[in-house]
Amino acid sequence: MLPVLAILLYSCGGTDKSVKQEPETPVQTVSVPVFNSDSAYAFIEEQLNFGPRVPGSEAHAACAAWLENTMKRFSDTVIVQSFRARAYNGEVLRGKNIIASFNVENKKRVLLSAHWDSRPYADHDLNAFNHDTPIDGANDGASGVGVLIETARQFSLQHPSIGVDIIFFDLEDYGPPQDDQSTETENWGLGSQHWSKNPHIVNYRARYGVLLDMVGVKDATFLMEGFSMVYAPSRVKKVWDIAEDLGYGDYFPSEYGSYITDDHYFVNTIANIPTINIIHLEKDAESGSFFKHWHTTSDNLEHIDQYTLKVVGTVVLNVIYREKG
Ligand SMILES: [Zn+2]
Repeated sequence: MLPVLAILLYSCGGTDKSVKQEPETPVQTVSVPVFNSDSAYAFIEEQLNFGPRVPGSEAHAACAAWLENTMKRFSDTVIVQSFRARAYNGEVLRGKNIIASFNVENKKRVLLSAHWDSRPYADHDLNAFNHDTPIDGANDGASGVGVLIETARQFSLQHPSIGVDIIFFDLEDYGPPQDDQSTETENWGLGSQHWSKNPHIVNYRARYGVLLDMVGVKDATFLMEGFSMVYAPSRVKKVWDIAEDLGYGDYFPSEYGSYITDDHYFVNTIANIPTINIIHLEKDAESGSFFKHWHTTSDNLEHIDQYTLKVVGTVVLNVIYREKG
């Protein structure tokens, strides 16, 4: 496409200047607030200050209360969905999905989400002594939540015309450690499975959903994740086009990534809401598809990059404010 376009442009250069040009179609301008990455970073730091948000821990309970109160500052309606779920090892866990809604009366809605729990064990740590240590989950968990709290703050300052729900899913990362041979998909995303079977509003519908996961490290690459392409290919294209348009094509390349069992899988297959996953994936990563510090004790604040947060947050805000309500 590109070389052809270049030739056309050259050949246009010699046209008769007296020929009247067609007036350009006026571009519809939408006002999109500026994403504040300092603020998003601070929201990540606040989560990490509680310690690893491992289900059942004090840090987990304290962070849930903080998330609820923080979202109440920015939204009129916050629902905390408490539930129990059985983990892969038979343990019954208590979880909380935290749901903040904006523009509640609007039936045209978009669903944004991220998981707020952190993994109970660093089972991919190079040092085997750390395999039972809980992780900070700065990128794996807190980054998506931090970006979405900042988008919520922006929604409170300038209301989008579309309705928006932000869900912080719990119990996403309590799946079996890598030396456990179980491969059942249902061991992951316990909070999103619960919500998808029991949405916070009866007959809840959204046009589509966007899940954020691992959106905070330097030079992240958001490849087009497999299940997103199966269940919501037109939404993937729309979001990637917006990113390209904003000059973030390096972060959102038009390349396919692997299929990732994540919360969007259950929102797609159980709630039937076409949902995409903006997730950092790499082609030849040491840990399969993920960033270097995935499920290790070094997934911490020092690897969070403000510019990446800015890129993702700006894309999300553009997706929401460009959506016709
Ligand atoms: Zn994880």
